[in-house]
Amino acid sequence: MEDIFCRIIKGEIPSTKIYEDDDVLAILDISQTTKGHTLVIPKLHYDNFLSCPQEVMHKVMDVAQRIGQAEISLLHARGVNILTNVNEAAGQSVMHFHVHVIPRYNGGEGFQITMKGQDTSGMDLPRLAMDISKAMKKE
Ligand code: AMP
Repeated sequence: MEDIFCRIIKGEIPSTKIYEDDDVLAILDISQTTKGHTLVIPKLHYDNFLSCPQEVMHKVMDVAQRIGQAEISLLHARGVNILTNVNEAAGQSVMHFHVHVIPRYNGGEGFQITMKGQDTSGMDLPRLAMDISKAMKKE
């Protein structure tokens, strides 16, 4: 079954469009976590950021950057979170690659990222870094 973003791209479901070119669509997120919360979506279907070809991913990120800049200048956001969720475990609910652009105005809004540190004393961080480095795909 097609996901909801495929259907939006085809024009079968309405959306509030900010930007469109041959490869990329940017729309307001229906939930408006903060005012201006935007989704940047490749028109071709890729399940997530990790499975998207580099060239397409770069186009999506370029649009995300420009929307973030516009939201700071136009909406006077004090900051912006640019994020993408990969797989359910990371909170992805629509399995079509998209980047969230979330303007931030003050601390009291309905969106927050908290990164709690954990005890790393039992972890071999240099080894971990080396293992991840070796597992990276060559460009
Ligand atoms: P994620 O949880 O990262 O997969 O994000 C999916 C996002 O899509 C959520 O923030 C939803 O609010 C948003 N969303 C779902 N349906 C629509 C829709 N029809 N139009 C705009 N945004 C949508």
